[in-house]
Amino acid sequence: MHELSIANRIVELVTEHLREAGAARATAITLRIGTLSCVHEDALRFSFDLVREGTPLAAAELRVVTVPVAIWCEACGREVVLPGIQKFACPDCGTPSGDIRAGRELDLESIELAAASHSGEILQ
Ligand SMILES: [Zn+2]
Repeated sequence: MHELSIANRIVELVTEHLREAGAARATAITLRIGTLSCVHEDALRFSFDLVREGTPLAAAELRVVTVPVAIWCEACGREVVLPGIQKFACPDCGTPSGDIRAGRELDLESIELAAASHSGEILQ
């Protein structure tokens, strides 16, 4: 299952980031997923729930930002967002274009951390 390996990678990346930041856990994670990335949000959420148990991400809220496909239209001279992925043509003038500028993203956009625990310092 494709999404399971992605979920595992997210847990790895975030855990690494938490360690570097000295934070105990993440409270929220935001992902940017392009319409063309072949990642199904429901499947990813399901996988994420499976793999994050017992990790510092166990209670983190998973936010997903869906990125629509954008192509470069030569005729209009600008980037245009497609209403769907059936037809790679400019929705304004109809010029076909395979110059994809957005929609393939699979990015970890942000991680919200719980305040780092300072109990070790207080005890000393
Ligand atoms: Zn156009």
